[in-house]
Amino acid sequence: MPEKPMVSPVVGVVFGLARPHLPVTLTGMGDGDGWAECDEGHRHWGRHGAAGLLLYHRDPEPHVLLQKRALLSIGGGTWGLLGGARHSHEDAVAGALREAGEESTLDPSVVRVHGIIGEHHGGWSYETVIASVAERPAVRRASFETAAVAWVHVDEVPRKKLFPPFADGWSRLRAALVRPVLVVDAAGLDGPDADRPTDGTADLARLRDRLTALGPVTNLPGAAADLSYPEIVIAADGAAPAVEGVDGVRVVTVPKDPEEWARFAIPGAPDEHRVIVTGDPALRDRAKAAGASVADPRWLLDLLA
Ligand SMILES: [Zn+2]
Repeated sequence: MPEKPMVSPVVGVVFGLARPHLPVTLTGMGDGDGWAECDEGHRHWGRHGAAGLLLYHRDPEPHVLLQKRALLSIGGGTWGLLGGARHSHEDAVAGALREAGEESTLDPSVVRVHGIIGEHHGGWSYETVIASVAERPAVRRASFETAAVAWVHVDEVPRKKLFPPFADGWSRLRAALVRPVLVVDAAGLDGPDADRPTDGTADLARLRDRLTALGPVTNLPGAAADLSYPEIVIAADGAAPAVEGVDGVRVVTVPKDPEEWARFAIPGAPDEHRVIVTGDPALRDRAKAAGASVADPRWLLDLLA
């Protein structure tokens, strides 16, 4: 088999570096650093798959953080994502953030993860982790794998000389630069299929605790990402007793009024994607008209089951 890896028009078909000439002490080799062959017959970098970080910042204009690959890399001199081979014990998020932190001066602790888009080849996968930062930090290169790191305006991305798999995936990735917010109408969970109404303090606290354990959501309605990490907001009826929010789950009160809900369904920022979970037909209509996605209570209850 020739050493030259195959390139096919999907994200991450080839990834990483030919590193055999470099001392191991310089490379920070992990147990995933090596070649793998997928069921489609390609040769890929990353024995346990690979992951990249697509970090964006939108204020005032949308920019993404890109890596210019060092000349000794596959695709040397092209622009793509920070990232690399996953270690056997890592999920995509851990792998992408670790690699980004190794290849650049980015502090992974300031990154907020919103979703994952995966390319699965059978026995091998490349996962792009979509994330954002509240403030746009200055980021510099920090490894031999990286010729440069730069924030690039999204409109400028296609004009750069891109790593071919990244170029092929860019239009889908660009559409996924969003922050999902799941808004749960607590009272609206009380439908024919709901297990219980959620109008008392104990019920609301129980719902909050169940949502805290929700984890990433597959196929979130309206989402471009395969897997979403939504922020969660419980919208309690204004008449309900107060319940404190916890880390990851906010609790707000919204008067049971379609106009109030229409206001609440409008994204608070240009990159927000709101998904309203309610069984109330009037609220669903208002949420859709305001540009939000809607989901049935049954969908959420199944996720929480
Ligand atoms: Zn493959």
